[in-house]
Amino acid sequence: MARVAIVTGGTRGIGAAISVALKNKGYRVAANYAGNDAAARQFQAEHGIPVYKFDVSDFEACEKGVQQIVRDLGPVDILVNNAGITRDVMLHKMTKENWDAVIRTNLDSVFNMTRLVIEGMRARNFGRIINISSINGRKGQLGQVNYSAAKAGLLGFTKALALEGAAKGITCNAIAPGYINTDMVAAVPKEVIETKVLPFIPVGRLGTAEEIARCVTFLAADEAGFITGACIDINGGQYMA
Ligand code: NDP
Repeated sequence: MARVAIVTGGTRGIGAAISVALKNKGYRVAANYAGNDAAARQFQAEHGIPVYKFDVSDFEACEKGVQQIVRDLGPVDILVNNAGITRDVMLHKMTKENWDAVIRTNLDSVFNMTRLVIEGMRARNFGRIINISSINGRKGQLGQVNYSAAKAGLLGFTKALALEGAAKGITCNAIAPGYINTDMVAAVPKEVIETKVLPFIPVGRLGTAEEIARCVTFLAADEAGFITGACIDINGGQYMA
């Protein structure tokens, strides 16, 4: 039986590319999303991947969502924690809502989803947890103390869980993308991308969602069992840790 994978935020952008790449590798994939029903419907129609609407920042909603996925597809072997949002503003103007929304969606979500699948993975002696962090969790970014904190938090989570899962066949790794050509980056003013982002990417262009997805399928493979606790930077040379 093919292994089962959940991709949070799996209907648009990087997550959509990950869902499709995993499906193409033969996995049974569940793509989660938050509220953009039109995009989710189009994604499902185009790729034949079932979609599940629930808010990853809400533990009870995740509980119901994961139960439904398990009923439909079977026990979860691979979890890609990809869903994320930005609420960019300098700290001296940041509201508590800006802070909470980003921490809940980008970091609490990783606890919520991983907590719900980890016991089954331990019982079955196999698991792959892949957390999508960010270049800005590695190096910091002006206007993103909330986002940088959440994405850096993911890296600590990744290393600690790698230790906990090591003897149980469970790997936990992070990927830190640089600037990738998705709706999230389209929200940044074009002038900022042209003058403040592209000149600092040695490869000279934005990345593609497929370039991140390729790394996810690599880490998800049964053969990747010796890679754990790692953070893989995919950023066109913009930041070298
Ligand atoms: P997009 O904004 O293009 O897509 C985000 C996806 O996440 C959508 O499917 C969205 O659902 C879903 N989502 C958002 N909030 C929730 C929630 N509360 N519950 C469930 N699903 C949710 O983002 P990207 O593809 O650009 O980014 C994907 C990940 O990669 C994020 O974690 C981001 O921080 C990270 N990243 C992105 C970079 C980039 O340059 N794009 C760079 C570095 C990291 P819906 O369609 O319903 O809104």
